[in-house]
Amino acid sequence: MTPREVAALLAYVVRLDPRLTLDDPAAAADRLTQWADLLSDVPATAPGWDAARVARDHIARSPYRIQPSDVSRPWHTHKADQLGRHVGTFEPTAHPHLDPDDVEGYRRALAAERHAIAIGQQAPTTHRAITAGPAAAEVERRLAQLGTYMPRTVAQTLATYRPHRAERERLARADAPDPLTVACTWCAAPEGEPCRGRAVNPRNEQTRHRPRSKPHPCRIEDATAAHLARRNAQETSA
Ligand SMILES: [Zn+2]
Repeated sequence: MTPREVAALLAYVVRLDPRLTLDDPAAAADRLTQWADLLSDVPATAPGWDAARVARDHIARSPYRIQPSDVSRPWHTHKADQLGRHVGTFEPTAHPHLDPDDVEGYRRALAAERHAIAIGQQAPTTHRAITAGPAAAEVERRLAQLGTYMPRTVAQTLATYRPHRAERERLARADAPDPLTVACTWCAAPEGEPCRGRAVNPRNEQTRHRPRSKPHPCRIEDATAAHLARRNAQETSA
Protein backbone atom coordinates (compact mmCIF):
# COMPACT_ATOMS: atom_id res chain seq x y z
CA MET A 1 0.00 0.00 0.00
CA THR A 2 1.15 3.51 -0.71
CA PRO A 3 1.13 5.98 2.23
CA ARG A 4 -1.98 7.52 0.67
CA GLU A 5 -3.74 4.12 0.69
CA VAL A 6 -2.63 3.50 4.28
CA ALA A 7 -4.02 6.92 5.28
CA ALA A 8 -7.36 5.99 3.71
CA LEU A 9 -7.32 2.64 5.51
CA LEU A 10 -6.55 4.35 8.84
CA ALA A 11 -9.38 6.84 8.33
CA TYR A 12 -11.71 3.91 7.68
CA VAL A 13 -10.66 1.91 10.78
CA VAL A 14 -10.91 5.02 13.00
CA ARG A 15 -14.48 5.45 11.76
CA LEU A 16 -15.27 1.80 12.66
CA ASP A 17 -13.48 1.89 16.04
CA PRO A 18 -13.54 5.43 17.53
CA ARG A 19 -11.15 4.29 20.31
CA LEU A 20 -8.43 4.58 17.65
CA THR A 21 -8.96 8.32 17.29
CA LEU A 22 -5.80 10.34 18.03
CA ASP A 23 -6.29 14.00 18.89
CA ASP A 24 -2.58 14.81 18.76
CA PRO A 25 -1.62 15.44 15.08
CA ALA A 26 2.02 14.47 15.77
CA ALA A 27 0.93 11.10 17.21
CA ALA A 28 -1.40 10.59 14.23
CA ALA A 29 1.48 11.34 11.82
CA ASP A 30 3.74 8.89 13.71
CA ARG A 31 1.10 6.21 13.48
CA LEU A 32 0.65 6.80 9.75
CA THR A 33 4.42 6.50 9.23
CA GLN A 34 4.54 3.28 11.25
CA TRP A 35 1.57 1.69 9.43
CA ALA A 36 2.84 2.80 6.02
CA ASP A 37 6.19 1.17 6.75
CA LEU A 38 4.71 -2.09 8.05
CA LEU A 39 2.13 -2.34 5.25
CA SER A 40 4.36 -1.24 2.37
CA ASP A 41 4.45 -4.83 0.99
CA VAL A 42 0.72 -5.44 1.45
CA PRO A 43 -1.54 -4.44 -1.46
CA ALA A 44 -4.79 -2.54 -0.82
CA THR A 45 -6.59 -4.89 -3.18
CA ALA A 46 -5.56 -8.00 -5.12
CA PRO A 47 -7.41 -11.00 -6.58
CA GLY A 48 -9.37 -12.41 -3.62
CA TRP A 49 -7.92 -9.78 -1.28
CA ASP A 50 -9.19 -6.48 0.15
CA ALA A 51 -7.18 -4.92 3.00
CA ALA A 52 -10.14 -2.76 4.10
CA ARG A 53 -12.34 -5.84 4.44
CA VAL A 54 -9.70 -7.64 6.47
CA ALA A 55 -9.45 -4.62 8.80
CA ARG A 56 -13.24 -4.43 9.05
CA ASP A 57 -13.52 -8.16 9.86
CA HIS A 58 -10.86 -7.81 12.55
CA ILE A 59 -12.69 -4.90 14.18
CA ALA A 60 -15.98 -6.80 13.96
CA ARG A 61 -14.55 -9.95 15.58
CA SER A 62 -11.79 -8.90 17.94
CA PRO A 63 -12.03 -6.90 21.18
CA TYR A 64 -8.41 -5.77 20.65
CA ARG A 65 -7.45 -2.60 18.84
CA ILE A 66 -6.30 -3.29 15.34
CA GLN A 67 -2.54 -3.44 14.65
CA PRO A 68 -0.77 -3.36 11.27
CA SER A 69 0.03 -7.07 11.80
CA ASP A 70 -3.72 -7.81 11.81
CA VAL A 71 -3.65 -6.83 8.13
CA SER A 72 -0.16 -8.01 7.09
CA ARG A 73 -0.42 -11.49 8.64
CA PRO A 74 -3.63 -12.41 6.76
CA TRP A 75 -2.01 -11.03 3.59
CA HIS A 76 1.00 -13.35 3.92
CA THR A 77 -1.33 -16.30 4.57
CA HIS A 78 -3.40 -15.33 1.51
CA LYS A 79 -0.26 -15.00 -0.61
CA ALA A 80 1.08 -18.40 0.48
CA ASP A 81 -2.30 -19.94 -0.30
CA GLN A 82 -2.39 -18.34 -3.77
CA LEU A 83 1.15 -19.55 -4.53
CA GLY A 84 0.26 -23.02 -3.26
CA ARG A 85 -2.71 -23.20 -5.62
CA HIS A 86 -0.68 -21.95 -8.58
CA VAL A 87 0.38 -24.88 -10.75
CA GLY A 88 3.56 -23.22 -11.95
CA THR A 89 3.34 -24.59 -15.47
CA PHE A 90 2.55 -22.67 -18.59
CA GLU A 91 -0.32 -22.84 -20.97
CA PRO A 92 1.23 -22.12 -24.39
CA THR A 93 -1.76 -19.93 -25.24
CA ALA A 94 -0.85 -17.64 -22.34
CA HIS A 95 2.81 -17.48 -23.38
CA PRO A 96 2.85 -17.58 -27.18
CA HIS A 97 6.25 -15.90 -27.28
CA LEU A 98 8.02 -18.69 -25.36
CA ASP A 99 10.00 -21.39 -27.09
CA PRO A 100 9.27 -24.67 -25.19
CA ASP A 101 12.98 -25.52 -25.26
CA ASP A 102 14.12 -22.14 -23.97
CA VAL A 103 14.71 -23.24 -20.39
CA GLU A 104 16.11 -19.87 -19.31
CA GLY A 105 13.10 -18.07 -20.79
CA TYR A 106 10.72 -20.42 -18.98
CA ARG A 107 12.56 -19.94 -15.73
CA ARG A 108 12.40 -16.15 -16.04
CA ALA A 109 8.71 -16.22 -16.99
CA LEU A 110 7.91 -18.56 -14.10
CA ALA A 111 9.75 -16.31 -11.64
CA ALA A 112 7.93 -13.25 -13.01
CA GLU A 113 4.60 -15.04 -12.77
CA ARG A 114 5.19 -16.18 -9.18
CA HIS A 115 6.27 -12.64 -8.29
CA ALA A 116 3.10 -11.20 -9.85
CA ILE A 117 1.00 -13.62 -7.76
CA ALA A 118 3.03 -12.87 -4.63
CA ILE A 119 2.44 -9.14 -4.88
CA GLY A 120 -1.20 -9.69 -5.79
CA GLN A 121 -1.10 -8.52 -9.40
CA GLN A 122 -2.15 -11.85 -10.82
CA ALA A 123 -4.55 -14.59 -9.77
CA PRO A 124 -3.14 -18.14 -9.67
CA THR A 125 -3.62 -20.49 -12.60
CA THR A 126 -5.22 -23.78 -11.70
CA HIS A 127 -5.77 -26.58 -14.18
CA ARG A 128 -9.31 -27.36 -15.15
CA ALA A 129 -8.99 -31.10 -14.76
CA ILE A 130 -11.02 -33.70 -16.61
CA THR A 131 -12.44 -35.56 -13.63
CA ALA A 132 -15.04 -38.03 -14.85
CA GLY A 133 -16.09 -40.34 -17.68
CA PRO A 134 -14.08 -42.29 -20.27
CA ALA A 135 -12.00 -39.17 -21.03
CA ALA A 136 -10.83 -39.07 -17.39
CA ALA A 137 -9.90 -42.77 -17.54
CA GLU A 138 -7.93 -42.12 -20.72
CA VAL A 139 -6.13 -39.17 -19.07
CA GLU A 140 -5.23 -41.37 -16.09
CA ARG A 141 -3.99 -44.14 -18.39
CA ARG A 142 -1.74 -41.74 -20.30
CA LEU A 143 -0.38 -40.09 -17.16
CA ALA A 144 0.31 -43.56 -15.70
CA GLN A 145 2.13 -44.51 -18.90
CA LEU A 146 4.33 -41.40 -18.63
CA GLY A 147 5.14 -42.62 -15.13
CA THR A 148 4.90 -40.73 -11.87
CA TYR A 149 8.24 -41.36 -10.25
CA MET A 150 7.90 -38.14 -8.27
CA PRO A 151 5.05 -36.40 -6.47
CA ARG A 152 2.93 -34.16 -8.68
CA THR A 153 4.03 -31.01 -6.79
CA VAL A 154 7.71 -31.80 -7.36
CA ALA A 155 6.95 -32.57 -11.00
CA GLN A 156 5.30 -29.17 -11.32
CA THR A 157 8.31 -27.42 -9.87
CA LEU A 158 10.59 -29.29 -12.24
CA ALA A 159 8.30 -28.77 -15.24
CA THR A 160 10.20 -25.70 -16.38
CA TYR A 161 13.39 -27.71 -16.57
CA ARG A 162 11.79 -30.51 -18.52
CA PRO A 163 9.69 -28.79 -21.17
CA HIS A 164 9.22 -31.94 -23.30
CA ARG A 165 7.85 -33.96 -20.42
CA ALA A 166 5.77 -31.04 -19.13
CA GLU A 167 4.25 -30.67 -22.58
CA ARG A 168 3.42 -34.41 -22.75
CA GLU A 169 1.75 -34.29 -19.33
CA ARG A 170 -0.18 -31.21 -20.37
CA LEU A 171 -1.41 -32.94 -23.54
CA ALA A 172 -2.37 -36.04 -21.53
CA ARG A 173 -4.35 -33.98 -19.03
CA ALA A 174 -6.10 -32.13 -21.86
CA ASP A 175 -6.77 -35.50 -23.59
CA ALA A 176 -5.15 -34.04 -26.72
CA PRO A 177 -3.04 -35.94 -29.29
CA ASP A 178 0.58 -36.43 -28.17
CA PRO A 179 2.97 -36.55 -31.17
CA LEU A 180 5.50 -38.53 -29.12
CA THR A 181 3.17 -41.55 -28.87
CA VAL A 182 4.12 -42.42 -32.48
CA ALA A 183 7.48 -42.68 -34.24
CA CYS A 184 8.35 -39.89 -36.66
CA THR A 185 8.39 -41.00 -40.31
CA TRP A 186 10.36 -37.87 -41.27
CA CYS A 187 13.38 -37.97 -38.92
CA ALA A 188 12.90 -41.56 -37.65
CA ALA A 189 12.77 -40.44 -34.00
CA PRO A 190 11.35 -43.45 -32.12
CA GLU A 191 8.24 -43.36 -29.99
CA GLY A 192 8.77 -41.30 -26.83
CA GLU A 193 11.74 -39.34 -28.16
CA PRO A 194 11.61 -35.81 -29.53
CA CYS A 195 12.07 -35.14 -33.23
CA ARG A 196 15.62 -34.36 -34.29
CA GLY A 197 17.17 -31.82 -36.51
CA ARG A 198 20.58 -31.98 -38.17
CA ALA A 199 23.22 -29.50 -37.10
CA VAL A 200 26.49 -29.27 -39.02
CA ASN A 201 29.55 -28.03 -37.18
CA PRO A 202 31.13 -25.44 -39.54
CA ARG A 203 34.63 -26.13 -38.22
CA ASN A 204 34.93 -29.89 -38.76
CA GLU A 205 31.74 -30.34 -40.85
CA GLN A 206 30.58 -33.11 -38.57
CA THR A 207 26.87 -33.74 -38.49
CA ARG A 208 25.11 -33.90 -35.18
CA HIS A 209 21.48 -34.62 -34.33
CA ARG A 210 19.81 -32.22 -31.98
CA PRO A 211 16.39 -32.64 -30.38
CA ARG A 212 13.91 -30.20 -31.88
CA SER A 213 11.50 -28.26 -29.71
CA LYS A 214 8.62 -29.01 -32.07
CA PRO A 215 7.66 -32.34 -33.67
CA HIS A 216 7.64 -32.63 -37.46
CA PRO A 217 4.18 -31.88 -38.96
CA CYS A 218 3.75 -35.42 -40.34
CA ARG A 219 4.24 -36.80 -36.81
CA ILE A 220 1.53 -34.49 -35.44
CA GLU A 221 -0.78 -35.73 -38.21
CA ASP A 222 0.00 -39.39 -37.46
CA ALA A 223 -0.52 -38.89 -33.73
CA THR A 224 -3.81 -37.05 -34.31
CA ALA A 225 -5.05 -39.89 -36.53
CA ALA A 226 -4.02 -42.49 -33.92
CA HIS A 227 -5.68 -40.45 -31.17
CA LEU A 228 -8.95 -40.20 -33.13
CA ALA A 229 -8.86 -43.93 -33.96
CA ARG A 230 -8.43 -44.78 -30.25
CA ARG A 231 -11.22 -42.35 -29.34
CA ASN A 232 -13.55 -43.94 -31.93
CA ALA A 233 -12.69 -47.45 -30.72
CA GLN A 234 -13.52 -46.41 -27.14
CA GLU A 235 -16.84 -44.91 -28.18
CA THR A 236 -17.77 -48.03 -30.16
CA SER A 237 -16.95 -50.33 -27.24
CA ALA A 238 -18.70 -48.05 -24.68
ZN1 LIG B 1 10.53 -35.92 -36.71
